[in-house]
Parts: sequence; C-alpha cells; structure tokens
Amino acid sequence: MKLFRGSTVCSLAMVGFCIFAAAQCLSALKEQKQGLRRFEFTEPYMGTMFKIVFYSSDESSALEASRVAFNRIAVLDHIMSDYQPSSELMRLSELAGGPPTRISDDLYGVMSAAQEIAQKSDGAFDITIGPVVRLWRRARRQHELPESARLAQALELVGHEKLRLDAKARTAQLLKPGMLLDLGGIAKGYAADETLRVLKGYGIDRALVAAGGDIAVGEPPPDREGNGWTIAVASLDSPAQRPKRYVALHNAGISTSGDLEQHVEINGTRYSHIVDPKSGRAITGRVSVTVIAPDDTTADALATAVCVLGLERGLKLIQSIPETRALICQAKNGELQCSDWHFPATRDQSHDSPIVRMEQVSQRFPGL
Ligand code: ADP
Ligand code: MG
Repeated sequence: MKLFRGSTVCSLAMVGFCIFAAAQCLSALKEQKQGLRRFEFTEPYMGTMFKIVFYSSDESSALEASRVAFNRIAVLDHIMSDYQPSSELMRLSELAGGPPTRISDDLYGVMSAAQEIAQKSDGAFDITIGPVVRLWRRARRQHELPESARLAQALELVGHEKLRLDAKARTAQLLKPGMLLDLGGIAKGYAADETLRVLKGYGIDRALVAAGGDIAVGEPPPDREGNGWTIAVASLDSPAQRPKRYVALHNAGISTSGDLEQHVEINGTRYSHIVDPKSGRAITGRVSVTVIAPDDTTADALATAVCVLGLERGLKLIQSIPETRALICQAKNGELQCSDWHFPATRDQSHDSPIVRMEQVSQRFPGL
C-alpha cells in the first residue's frame, strides 16, 4: 500500500488498520457472494437531475424501487414547485391573507423544517422570500437591477413570522395578501431524504440520492464499509476542473449552495440567486458553502442560510447546531478564503491508489 511504503515499523495502529481493511475485504466478498449489484438511474425533476445509486441483489425489485422512487420525486415536485401554478404550494400562496388552510403531510413537513431553520438562522433562511426572488428572477432575465421601490414593496411581504403553521390541525396560514412561498432552498434536500426512505421500504439501504448539489446517503457501498460514499466537492476557484476535496459519508445529507451555477452579472457585479431576506438584495461576491447534516433537508436549508450570513455568522450558526459541519469558501479582494467547522474532507484523493475504489459522485459534475 502506498500509504505505508518506506515504513519499517509496523505500529499497533497500522496492525489495527490492516485488520480493519481485511475485515472490510471479507465483508465486501460476502456481499458480492450475495450478488449485490450496483444500479444507477437519472431523471430530471425540480429543475435539476436526480441521480439514484444503490446496491441490490434483485434486478426486478431494483427496477421497481427506482420507478416508485422517481414517482415519489415527481409527486413532491408537483407539490412544491413555484413554477407550476397548479402546485399545492402555489395554491396555498394564492390564499394568502385568508384563514388557515389544511395542507398535505409533505408540504407541512418541509415547511416546518424550513421554519425551524428560519428561526435558528435569525431569518437568513426564509421561505416567504418569494416576492423578492420573483423580482430578482426578472432582473436576471432582463439584465437590469430591480427598482428599489419595488424591492421595498416586496420586502413588506417577507418574514417567516408571517407564516403560521399549526402542527395539530396540519394547517398553514399566510398572514398578508400577496405573500408568496418559495421552497427552492430546501425542496431538493427534502426530496432526496424522502427518496432514500422509499428505497429503504424495498430493503435497499446502500443508497445515494443526488439532486444536483443536494445529496442524501444511506449505508455505504459494499466495498466502502466503515467509510461511506465518496462525495466530490467542487472548488470555487476552478469549478470546471476535477474537484480537489472529497468527503466519505454515510447516513447523512450534504448540500452545496453558492453562486457557482446560478448568477447574473449586471454592471460588472455578480448577483447570486440567493437573496438576503433582511435587505432584499441578492448575494454578491463569490461564495460556496457545503454543509453536512444528519439529513439533507437540514443541509440544504443551512447551506442557503450560510450563504446569506457569510463566513463569520455562518460558522457560528453551524457551530450552534449539533451534528452539522460546514466548509465555507468566499473570494475576498481577489483571494479565496475558506473556513470550516469539523469538515472531514481529504485533499486530492488519487484515483489510482490501490486502497481507493471510490463510488464517486460529483456534486456539480455528475458525469465525472
Ligand atoms: P440551489 O437551488 O442551487 O441548490 P439553494 O439550495 O441555495 O441553491 O437554493 C436557492 C433557491 O432558494 C433560490 O433559487 C430561491 O428560490 C430560494 N432562496 C433564495 N434566497 C433564499 C433565502 N434567503 N431563504 C430561503 N430560500 C431562498
Ligand atoms: Mg439550499
């Protein structure tokens, strides 16, 4: 093994590692004997590609599980879309200013998770951001900044305290007419988590679901026991190149937010699709935030929140929530600054190393 070349002393730790590695091999062999095969499926939903990867010994149940999983994603897309006027979310928004309305368990689930992050992030994450996001979407299309008077008007309709949820009655109430909900910062994470759940129902535990930069992982692949799925984290300075950081994860969610993909440049300034709910301004300056959490609903929302909060306040938020980790990179005065909180990434995992046979899924380059 490359790792130990040149070493003449076999330390206790190394012996331990060797035993561990041998045990891994044995368990991988056992799984292969059980006929576990890797399956991979990709379909477009929620404006991105959903990739499902899992191990199963039974092809027909694998195919059925993937079909049911994609059906589940399609249903969630139809509930949570802010592009389809007939979605449950849009119909709820139309009732803004009216009495509490009963909503589906899925809409309730994702909205209550969103409200929790809104409170924890002091409103940096806020799904009532819809009216402001709408103005910035138009700005992106027309390459023209929104008028400040219109932004101020839209901001009047924003605020997570203007959205009331009732857990017992399963209702939601939007207190002001004109309010508009936007689940773009959390829906993909929720869908990734739910897809893992569907697969589990078919006895498929060794699974990964990637919704663009939002990834939920279950048990590790058979040959990565004790480690996990290897996720590549695209770098901010050279997003088109092969990523330099890799994270091994199992039973967790990992999400990246930032301006790598969706942004517009107006008068020489780069505006992200993420908006600060306090000022109504789109985030400027290059930023990329990767968050790891026990589930991907949380990771997705937190990554968006940290983009709004910036490096210092963002790190504080992550530190205040148990079992979350983050890598925050931003460009300042032409230089890239990265800080992390317990982020377990390794640099440059070489692909020809004999100990690494990675299940590699790039967050930004699914074809990698
Ligand atoms: P991506 O959609 O690229 O995965 P995010 O998860 O960060 O990125 O979500 C960004 C989307 O979230 C925006 O397109 C918008 O719909 C919505 N959004 C923008 N700003 C906020 C915010 N402050 N809080 C909650 N949602 C937001
Ligand atoms: Mg998000």
